[in-house]
Amino acid sequence: MNFSSLDLAPELQQAIDACGYSKMTPIQQQAITPARRGKDVLANAQTGTGKTAAFSIPVLQKLVDRPRTTDSKRPRALILTPTRELAEQLAQTIGEYAQFLPFNVTALYGGGKMSGQAAKLKKGVDILISTPGRLLEHIEVCNVDLSEVEFVVLDEADRMLDMGFITDVQKLMNFTAKTRQTLLFSATTSHAVSELAKKILKNHTVVSV
Ligand code: AMP
Repeated sequence: MNFSSLDLAPELQQAIDACGYSKMTPIQQQAITPARRGKDVLANAQTGTGKTAAFSIPVLQKLVDRPRTTDSKRPRALILTPTRELAEQLAQTIGEYAQFLPFNVTALYGGGKMSGQAAKLKKGVDILISTPGRLLEHIEVCNVDLSEVEFVVLDEADRMLDMGFITDVQKLMNFTAKTRQTLLFSATTSHAVSELAKKILKNHTVVSV
């Protein structure tokens, strides 16, 4: 199936073309349509399957479909990921998918300076990518407010659990909008991942490659 069959916003289709993608990968074929319809999704997919586009494309499309109604600069989408390297990589990749859209993509991670990250938050963020601990630090000092986050992605959820981020992730979920849509991506299935899914997903669809 080609991306063109999805009838995406022209700016998004243009970015996909610029990346050289034509056919969707299996995880993209399975995850994009339910996510775009507003369903919570639990996806089992490893790195290399095209999972980043599988969660980024529906989120970007939904941000286009539902423009902001106020001049708020608070984040509307939150992507949690376990490490600094992954946060930086996601910011780069999502920046490419959003290159023709007016969205600000910002990454926060432990080890980076709080002050520099605070300045970026102040300027305004549409899509916030972060490691869990650092995001909580910014919330504690009121550098960021997640109350307008309508879309949450947990990337590499199994690794976040292995690294002991479960409590932080759950705390963060409570700061987001009650009506949020959540996409949980994990390379492996385990009891811990299913338990997390039960706690934070609503009436979700399961997809697996
Ligand atoms: P990921 O699993 O998100 O890390 O993606 C793995 C690699 O696949 C990256 O280099 C992407 O640029 C590439 N990729 C993602 N989706 C597609 C696609 N539909 N067609 C070709 N390459 C893709």
